[in-house]
Amino acid sequence: MDVLPCGHVARASRVRLCRHLLGPDGPPDDIEYVRVLTGRGIEYDLCCRTCDRAGTAPELLVVCEGCAFRAEEDETGMVGWRGRPEIRERPEGHRGEPARLRLPPALRRPLDWAALPGTDGAAYLFLTGRRDLVRFDALSGRFQRLATVSVPDDTVERPARRVEISLRLRPHLHVSRSGRYAAVVNDHGSRGAVVDLRTGRTTMTLDGGHYGTHIMPFALAFATHQGRDVMVHRTASNRLDVSDPATGDLLTARDATRQDDPEGRRGEHHLTYWHGALRISPDGRWIADNGRLGYPGVGTTVWDLRRWLEENPFESEDGPSRRSLCVRDYAWNRPVCWVSESLVAVFGIGSDDETLLDGVRVFDASTGTETLTFPGPSGDVLFADGRRLYSDGDEGLQIWDPSTGERTASVPGFHPRRHHPRAAELAAIQDGDLVRLPTAGRP
Ligand SMILES: [Zn+2]
Ligand SMILES: [Zn+2]
Repeated sequence: MDVLPCGHVARASRVRLCRHLLGPDGPPDDIEYVRVLTGRGIEYDLCCRTCDRAGTAPELLVVCEGCAFRAEEDETGMVGWRGRPEIRERPEGHRGEPARLRLPPALRRPLDWAALPGTDGAAYLFLTGRRDLVRFDALSGRFQRLATVSVPDDTVERPARRVEISLRLRPHLHVSRSGRYAAVVNDHGSRGAVVDLRTGRTTMTLDGGHYGTHIMPFALAFATHQGRDVMVHRTASNRLDVSDPATGDLLTARDATRQDDPEGRRGEHHLTYWHGALRISPDGRWIADNGRLGYPGVGTTVWDLRRWLEENPFESEDGPSRRSLCVRDYAWNRPVCWVSESLVAVFGIGSDDETLLDGVRVFDASTGTETLTFPGPSGDVLFADGRRLYSDGDEGLQIWDPSTGERTASVPGFHPRRHHPRAAELAAIQDGDLVRLPTAGRP
């Protein structure tokens, strides 16, 4: 082995550095740097802010693995990416073209909408400005009001700090896996209601707690357990419960004093975590939670939903299956989606929302290990159907093989906003039309 330019006789790192990031104990404190993509996968070199601004290509030194590690040990100094990653292509085309259908006037600008499973064909549920829940059948074009929902006023305190301003109260519609129940909750608020779509009756009102919840979407997800609909929902900023949406019966009863007492003293199972967007794995085994660890860290966490329901009501707090997959600052509302029974994709490569590189990281929920990282997927939605991962780029739909990271197709001009797994299609509302496109397969 030769002496490397960093002065060490050691194995060379793939990451090269500008000379200002070198030092016997690592780079100077508070130095800012950028990652310069080399065009091979997501490999990059590092250069300091001064070299980055100099306007000429910086001189990059081959250094040992130790020096490269020390240069990035404090990731808060990372201020951005330069260049482009290598996006690998394996074009295989895509079946079908987007099909357009004019929506009735009352459904063209809904407060929210969702896939409505449980019936043959492609039905969607719309929450209108009048708070009606309307079923729309995309095959026949027929529509029918099923219920009117009333969500109590939200009184959550909303500090007027910079970051919260964009996170205004927003109604969010969720539908149970059978299609029988719907929940309407206030994202970035604390209230909600559950409706039986067969009878139109409100079966539950929801209170998701107030403390610090204005930043987070209202944590709620429907799942299926032992053949029936169940609903995971936030009952305090740091507590989730599972209820029967038909009756409101609590399925995760646990001694609150063993969590936190009413005076805020921390109990045995205290959790410093503000639950966020929830995603249930296709077979209902795992739950992923994109919650806050404090401020500004957002931690994507998984645990075993079945174990939670059948063995340990504290599984969501500190059960043995609970694992943190990754932590990124300020990434409150980045998409997360299951790509197989146990693999979950998390949007963004990096550790701070402002400097995330478009791409996904895929984690195995059963081990917590990162199995694949690939660049390319962008936008604010991710969907998967067991075969492909779908993202919404600037140009339109991008389709990826989540087992290899290759892009297999794109559909310019189609910007999907919803996935209907049962109907095996993606959908969008564009110019008052419902636009639908078949997916590659069913989950
Ligand atoms: Zn430099
Ligand atoms: Zn070295």
